[in-house]
This record gives sequence, C-alpha cells and structure tokens, in this order.
Amino acid sequence: MGERASVRGNSCLRCGACCATYRVSFYWAEAEHYGLPDSLIEKVSPWHACMAGTGQPEPRCRALAGTIGRSVSCLVYSRRPSPCRELQPGEDKCIRARVRHGLEPYLDEETPDAAQAPAA
Ligand code: SF4
Ligand code: SF4
Repeated sequence: MGERASVRGNSCLRCGACCATYRVSFYWAEAEHYGLPDSLIEKVSPWHACMAGTGQPEPRCRALAGTIGRSVSCLVYSRRPSPCRELQPGEDKCIRARVRHGLEPYLDEETPDAAQAPAA
C-alpha cells in the first residue's frame, strides 16, 4: 500500500490488492525498527521475516482490514515495513495486483489533471 495514496486520491484505501498478492518480506531487524508486533510477522529465514499471512499460497496480510476493492486500511500503516513503503500506486506491481483481484488496472487518479496535482 503506497505512500502517495494518502495524498493523491486515496486509491489504496479503495484497493488493498498488493497487500493480498505478494509476500511482503524484509530484513528481520525492520520489525523492531518500526515496532511491528510479533503477532503480525513470520520468520522466513534466519535474516528475513514477512508480514503474517503474506507467505501463503493465497496471500493476505494480517494487518489488512476491510474488503479488497471496496474499502481497506492498514492496521500498522505508520509502522509498515519497507516493501510497503516502496510500492507505489500505478507501478507494475500495483497494476499486476489489481488485475489479479479483478480490479481496473489503472487508478482513477491517473488522469493528466490529477497527475499534475500537487501533493498535500
Ligand atoms: S495495488 Fe496499488 S492501488 Fe492497490 S493498495 Fe497497492 S499500491 Fe495501492
Ligand atoms: S503492512 Fe499494511 S501496507 Fe503492508 S502489506 Fe500489510 S496491510 Fe499492506
């Protein structure tokens, strides 16, 4: 779930597809750095963890609340790990996740006018 969503039309708050498509893995020390609770992370290797639920064949992050494609929120938004911060609305991984969940690939905000709107 991308940073820009909160300032460019809230697309992510009506989506959540990437939080239920990819394994969200990161260097284990990030969990402590961001203060993620143990209940929301799973060990992947001696050095890596992932958000709980995203390592499954049908991934869905345990921190994702709501209904994908309608209304969602991240229960640990301010503490989310780097992959969540890096994934930007409109990039390839976003589009692939949205398609996987039967959503329109492109975001409403990606009209020329909106694209030029200043970030709040
Ligand atoms: S798939 Fe794209 S629009 Fe949907 S939550 Fe992730 S970054 Fe936001
Ligand atoms: S931590 Fe939040 S932003 Fe990251 S995958 Fe889970 S629900 Fe999505």
